[in-house]
Amino acid sequence: MRDLSSELLAWYDVHAREMPWRVPPAERKAGVLPDPYAVWMSEVMLQQTTVAAVRDYHRKFLSFWPTVRDLAAAEDADVMAAWAGLGYYARARNLLKCARAVMADHGGVFPDNVEDLLTLPGVGPYTAAAVAAIAFDRSETVVDGNVERVMARLYDIHAPLPASKAELTVKAKELTPQNRPGDYAQAVMDLGATICTPRSPACGICPWRDPCAARVAGTAAELPKKTPKKKTPTRYGFVYVARRIDGAWLLETRPENGLLGGMLGWPGSDWGDDPKPDPPFEAEWAVLAEEARHTFTHFHLRLRIMTVRADADTQPMRGQFFLPDAFSPAALPTAMRKVFDLAHVTLRDD
Ligand code: SF4
Repeated sequence: MRDLSSELLAWYDVHAREMPWRVPPAERKAGVLPDPYAVWMSEVMLQQTTVAAVRDYHRKFLSFWPTVRDLAAAEDADVMAAWAGLGYYARARNLLKCARAVMADHGGVFPDNVEDLLTLPGVGPYTAAAVAAIAFDRSETVVDGNVERVMARLYDIHAPLPASKAELTVKAKELTPQNRPGDYAQAVMDLGATICTPRSPACGICPWRDPCAARVAGTAAELPKKTPKKKTPTRYGFVYVARRIDGAWLLETRPENGLLGGMLGWPGSDWGDDPKPDPPFEAEWAVLAEEARHTFTHFHLRLRIMTVRADADTQPMRGQFFLPDAFSPAALPTAMRKVFDLAHVTLRDD
C-alpha cells in the first residue's frame, strides 16, 4: 500500500514555504522545535487572514512582545492598536486573555496537548490541533479550508461543504502520521496553498498526482462542492466625526461585546436596515457626500458620515476628545479608518 504521508513529507522537505514562525524541515529533523508562543500567535492571526497579510503583523508582535509574559503584561490599548488593520478584533482580545491565562494557570508555559490547549480563551479545535501538532509534534489532525479541498480532491468526494466536513475530517485523520506530524500538518497546508489551489490546481507537479482520484476523474477544479451561500445583507449606520478647534478628535471605545469590540472608533448609531441618527452632541452636523463602505464576514456596511467643527467647550454625551498627538489613524480598525480617510479632508487644519 502507498504511504501517502511519507510521499507528501518528501515533497515538503524540498518545497516547504518559509515563514517567520516556522522551523524548516531539516532543522526539525535535527530536533529543533518552534517556539509555541510564536506558533500559537501565527495560528490566531492566520484565522480568516492570508499568510501575506500576517507576516508583518507577526514580526511586529514578536518584536513588541517577544514572550507570552511580555504580551500578558501589555496594555490592552497597545495590543488593540498594534492589531488594527488585521480585522476580526475578537481575536486580539482573545490573544490577550489567552496570554494572561497561560501566565496565570500554566506558569507561563504553553500546554503541549489538545485537551489543555482547548481550555485557553480563543483556542478552538483547529488552533489547539495546529499548536499541538506544529509546536509539540503531537499526532493531531489539522483541518482548515486548504485541507478540506485537498481531501475532497484526493478522494473525489462530491458531497458539498459544510455537510461533508465530517467525512473530509475522517479522511484527513486517516492520513495523519505518527512520524513528523508537525511537518505533515504544515505540508498539507502548503500543498493546498501552493499547488492544490482553489481554481487551477497544478496537478502536473503535485506529489499526490498518481493517487489523486479527482485528477484521474477530471473533476479536481470543481471540488470541493459547496452549498450555495445566502446573499450577503447590507447594513447601514451613521458615524459622527467631530474635530474641536484645538485639533482634537472625538472618539469612543466600542463596547467589548460587539463588532470591533474594544477598538477605538467614531461615535455612531446602531447598524441595521433603517438606523436612527444618534449624534454624540447637538450641533449643525454636515453630511458628507460619500459613504464609507466596508465588508465584514456576514454583511456589507455602509456608513453615512456626519462631520462638524466642535467648539472648545463642547461636552459630548459619549466618547472623549483626543488631541492629535494622542491619536493615530493607523490605530483605528479598517472600517473606521475609511471614515477618517473620507472625513478628515473637510476638517483639516486651515
Ligand atoms: S493531483 Fe491535483 S487535485 Fe489532486 S491533490 Fe494534487 S493538485 Fe490537488
